[in-house]
Amino acid sequence: MQVIVIIPAAGSGSRFGGDIPKQFRTLGGKPMLMHVIERFLFDERVHRVIVPVQEMLLSSIVPVPGDRLRFIAGGVTRQESVARGVDAAGDVRAIVAVHDAVRPFFSYEVFHAVIDAAREHGAAFPAIPIADTIHVVDDDRVVSTPDRRTLVAAQTPQCFRIEVLRDILMRGEGDATDEAGLAAKYGHVVKAVPGDSLNFKITRPEDLVMAERIYAEWGDDK
Ligand code: C5P
Repeated sequence: MQVIVIIPAAGSGSRFGGDIPKQFRTLGGKPMLMHVIERFLFDERVHRVIVPVQEMLLSSIVPVPGDRLRFIAGGVTRQESVARGVDAAGDVRAIVAVHDAVRPFFSYEVFHAVIDAAREHGAAFPAIPIADTIHVVDDDRVVSTPDRRTLVAAQTPQCFRIEVLRDILMRGEGDATDEAGLAAKYGHVVKAVPGDSLNFKITRPEDLVMAERIYAEWGDDK
């Protein structure tokens, strides 16, 4: 069974402020998206990497030889961009991994464990136990406090048998924040696999400061 990676990168937003979408911000002088793409391409288990980007960027991307890396036009929503990636994967038996462009420090160990769990169960994701207590608030007042021991934070790469991903993307309404939640909502088994706290999402300026420090210390070897 093939392993195909989709990295949705067609968003224009930037929580950092400024005009550069966060996936194109640099880390050690190189766009974060490139770090992530290269890390997947170095992995022998990965057959193809598909990257939905904004259509206007496509003409400025120089195609790389071979068919292991492909840039395609993304959609209006993140879910649509992922769906276009699945279409581009074609009619294959595959495990599809969906990964955030702003998580450059994922480990092969966790990724491979998630692939294996998805092959067995249908869907899987890296999960991190919650250290803080989480409250549900409404208008700054605590409404309820879920038991922390029942909560995990969901990271990526999230992996799916391709038919599971097709099913949930067809049924989802475009407002899901991750595919694992969507798969569970539509009745699929979704396995939580132990994640790695270094695989954090670089979304705020202070995350980037931390990421630069980690990159300076470990480079691409993490
Ligand atoms: O904007 P947000 O942080 O929710 O985007 C999550 C990810 O989905 C980003 O990597 C973004 O580039 C991607 N995205 C996409 N197509 C869209 C909107 C967002 O690929 N239409």
